Amino acid sequence: GANRAKNVLVLMSDTGGGHRASAEAIKDAFRIEFGDDYRVFVKDLCKDHAGWPLNNMESSYKFMVKHVQLWKVAFHGTSPRWVHNFYLAALASFYAKKVEAGLKKYKPDIIISVHPLMQHIPLWVLKWQGLQNRVVFATVITDLNTCHPTWFHADVNRCYCPSEEVAKRAELDDLKSSQIRVFGLPIRPSFCRAVLVKDDLRKELELDPDLPAVLLMGGGEGMGPVKKTAKALGDALFDKELGKPIGQLVVICGRNKTLSSSLQALEWKMPIKIRGFETQMEKWMGACDCIITKAGPGTIAEALIRGLPIILNDFIPGQEVGNVPYVVDNGAGVFSKSPKETAELVARWFGPGAEERKRMSENALKLAQPEAVFDIVRDIHELSQEQGVKAQISSSLTSSFFMPSPEA
Ligand code: UDP
Repeated sequence: GANRAKNVLVLMSDTGGGHRASAEAIKDAFRIEFGDDYRVFVKDLCKDHAGWPLNNMESSYKFMVKHVQLWKVAFHGTSPRWVHNFYLAALASFYAKKVEAGLKKYKPDIIISVHPLMQHIPLWVLKWQGLQNRVVFATVITDLNTCHPTWFHADVNRCYCPSEEVAKRAELDDLKSSQIRVFGLPIRPSFCRAVLVKDDLRKELELDPDLPAVLLMGGGEGMGPVKKTAKALGDALFDKELGKPIGQLVVICGRNKTLSSSLQALEWKMPIKIRGFETQMEKWMGACDCIITKAGPGTIAEALIRGLPIILNDFIPGQEVGNVPYVVDNGAGVFSKSPKETAELVARWFGPGAEERKRMSENALKLAQPEAVFDIVRDIHELSQEQGVKAQISSSLTSSFFMPSPEA
């Protein structure tokens, strides 16, 4: 009937932490906005339903980011349309059956892809099945500026771009403006709707109540020059003349266990918290006064919402390059590859440069788009209702055309 719950299939891949975070954000926002009207399944479709090489995407991603040159080649080498279309056509024919099984299992009314490589195959299968008019297909782009052209697929109903820069690229790549919406990067509702008080958070997280705090991280995998930066901060945040620290440090190592254990083994002259993969990032960000991170889109968008000035110390070549000017040109942070320079900047922000830190914090808040995820699910809801009406009209047309009339 008209009131049955609709199924939403969110396709992601656990490369890094960002895609999963966006997928979970969309799931949470559907529940908050529409309760039981939508059943949302977040699936790494390639991992669950396909074999090599797609189920290897996660581990080959980890391998490639460690071998930056290789990743550069892979990213740019697959850019021309004919190359990736040929490659994907070959893959698609091989995996179509398995993808088909996935689609049958979840019977989605709506498919949302938050991964650049998860549009072509499902869209092909929908076409072969004659389902493209019954299933709403939306792409949610999770790169803030320069994104890989595989993100843009002309057959989607909607392409949600996190920024105007990405929207411009989408238009240059032949998407119609009616397909494009710019709401911002979807961030988990626990982030954007939380009312957090810094003093309470510091107590809860057992941080020093008075010393300014810097958060140091490197995405879900704990990448970038985290260890060197932590050591440099150890020097810069200790006032030798007074013999006491001028700040405290929180390092979130994500899934990088080697990193956390090697940091644990060192001695520190300032208060420090060394943590593994944290599930309540909004609290750690809310308890700190600035952040040092690689240019991951998820972390950046979250830091903006919390009004944290950002020091970007690394980026994954290709998809993360553009996130740097997005932050720097908008006055919400700086870029520095040098751990020493980074540490000295933090020390300045915690002392005579407090005004600069405040100004950047205000710019960060201006750039933040905490409502993006809700705008996205509301738009998808409208799209799905329009589609429902269209499908009803077309099915009544087909049935009157094919069915023998009662009088016959
Ligand atoms: N994250 C987390 N816990 C951690 C480390 C990271 O929840 O311990 C989250 C972080 O809040 C962000 C995402 O993982 O939402 C990282 O995404 P980003 O795009 O910054 O980088 P990626 O890891 O995808 O390269």
